[in-house]
Amino acid sequence: MDTDTIAAVATPVGEGGIAVIRVSGPEAISIVDQLYKGKKKLAEAKTHTVHYGHIVEPQSGERIDEVLVTVMRAPRTFTREDVVEVSCHGGIIPVQKTLEALLAAGARLAEPGEFTKRAFLNGRIDLSQAEAVIDLIRAKTDRAAKIALSQTEGRLSRLINNLRNEILETLAHLAVNVDYPEYDAEEMTAQFLEERCRYIAGEIDRLLNTARQGKIYREGIYTAIIGRPNVGKSSLMNALTQENKAIVTDIPGTTRDVIEEYVNVRGIPLRLLDTAGIRETEDVVERIGVERSHKALEQADLVLLVLNFAEPLAEEDRRLLELIGPHTAVVIVNKADLQGRLDLDEVKSLIGDKPLITTSLKEERGIEDLEEAISQLFRLGKVDAADGTYVSNARHIHLLEKAKSSVDEVVRGIEAGMPLDMVEIDLKNAWQYLGEVIGDAVAEDLIDQIFSQFCLGK
Ligand code: GDP
Ligand code: ZN
Repeated sequence: MDTDTIAAVATPVGEGGIAVIRVSGPEAISIVDQLYKGKKKLAEAKTHTVHYGHIVEPQSGERIDEVLVTVMRAPRTFTREDVVEVSCHGGIIPVQKTLEALLAAGARLAEPGEFTKRAFLNGRIDLSQAEAVIDLIRAKTDRAAKIALSQTEGRLSRLINNLRNEILETLAHLAVNVDYPEYDAEEMTAQFLEERCRYIAGEIDRLLNTARQGKIYREGIYTAIIGRPNVGKSSLMNALTQENKAIVTDIPGTTRDVIEEYVNVRGIPLRLLDTAGIRETEDVVERIGVERSHKALEQADLVLLVLNFAEPLAEEDRRLLELIGPHTAVVIVNKADLQGRLDLDEVKSLIGDKPLITTSLKEERGIEDLEEAISQLFRLGKVDAADGTYVSNARHIHLLEKAKSSVDEVVRGIEAGMPLDMVEIDLKNAWQYLGEVIGDAVAEDLIDQIFSQFCLGK
C-alpha cells in the first residue's frame, strides 16, 4: 500500500480563473500547513471544511497566492486518505509555485490516474467505476458524461454482480448433481441449467446492446457531408461548427477540454469528417467525387447529402441518392433562396422515409430543422442515459463477449448431451470473465495500464 503523499493540479491550468491542487496521503494536512497562513492551522480544522488564507513561500515568507483550502479527513474522501484541496486564483504562475512548494515540503508529484488508483486500491470504488472515471474525463457531451456517471455510481457493477451470483447458484446446483450422482436429477438439472444459461446469455446480450450507444456518445457520430461541387457542403460545415462549437463538460472535477472536430447538436456529438474533398478545390472530376463519397460513407454513422435547389437533379445527384440508400442519412436541399429548378417530388420518391430538409445556408435558414432531424434520428430508441446502464468501455465489451460465448458453449454442450462436469468449466469461465469487468481477479499490470490512461490530477 502507498504511504506517501501525492499532489497534482486537478484542473487544467491556464483556462478560467481557478485552479485546484489536490493533495492526498497521510501527510496531506501537515504538508499544506507548512505553506498555509490563515486564521488557524489546518491541523485543527474539522473534516470537510473550507478555509480562507494565503500560500506563502516557507523560507522567504513571500505570498504566492490567495487561496481557499478544503480539508477532508480519511476515510470519507475519494481516496479514503486525508485529502486537501487548494483552490488558487492567480493564474498559471502562482499555481506552479504552489505546487513546487508542496513538492519541496514533502509531497510527491502524482502519476496520471494515481488518485483514482488509490481510491480503487483502498476499496472506495471498483474497477469498472474507476474506468468510468476515465470515460468521464474524456466525455464529449453532457449525455456521455451522464453515462459515465451512472457507471461510476456502480450500476454496471451491480448488474454484473447479480449475473455472477446467478452463475454461482447454478454452479452450486450443478456441483450437487455432479458430486452426488446417486442424487439422480441429471435430467432435471440439464433442463434447469439450459434455462438458466439462456437467461444469463440474454442479460449479457442486453448489456452488449448498449455498447453501440455508449460508443456513439463517447466517440461521436461520424458524419460525412457529401454532394456535388458547389452545392454548399463547406457552408454547411461552417454553419454547424459556428453554431455548436466548443463542447465542454460541466461535471465538477472533469477536464474542461474543447474538442474542435466535434460539434454538439442538441446533446449529440457529431464528428464531422472532412470528406469528399470538402476543403479542397472545387474542380474535382465527377468520378473522383463519387468514389470519395463512397469511401466516406463506409466509415460514416450519419450522411448529410446536399443537393442544389437551383439546379435540376444531375446524374451525379442520382448516384449519390442511390449510394445513401442503406445508410442513416438526411437529404438537404440547399439554396432555397434561389429560383427552384429541382423536382422535389422526384427527390422525395427516391429517398423513401429519409428526412428531407430545405435550407438556405446563405440566409441562415433551415439549420434548426436540420438539427431537429438529426436529433430525432439519434434519439437511440428514446433511452435516457440516466435510466440505463451503458457499457462503453472496449475492455468491458471484450470481456462481456467472452462471457457470452462461454455461456453459449454451455447451452450447446447441453444440447449435444455432453456430461455436466464438462459444461461446468465454461460456466466457471463466464463467471471469471464477468469478474474481470469489475476488477475481481485482475492482473497487477492490467491495473497499472488502466490507471495510466488518466489525466494528471485525477
Ligand atoms: P461546396 O463546394 O459544396 O463546399 O459549396 P460551398 O459551401 O463552397 O458553396 C458554393 C457556393 O454556393 C458559395 O459561393 C456559397 O456562398 C454559395 N452558397 C452556399 N449556400 C448557399 C445558399 O443557401 N444560397 C445561395 N444563394 N448560395 C449559397
Ligand atoms: Zn466548398
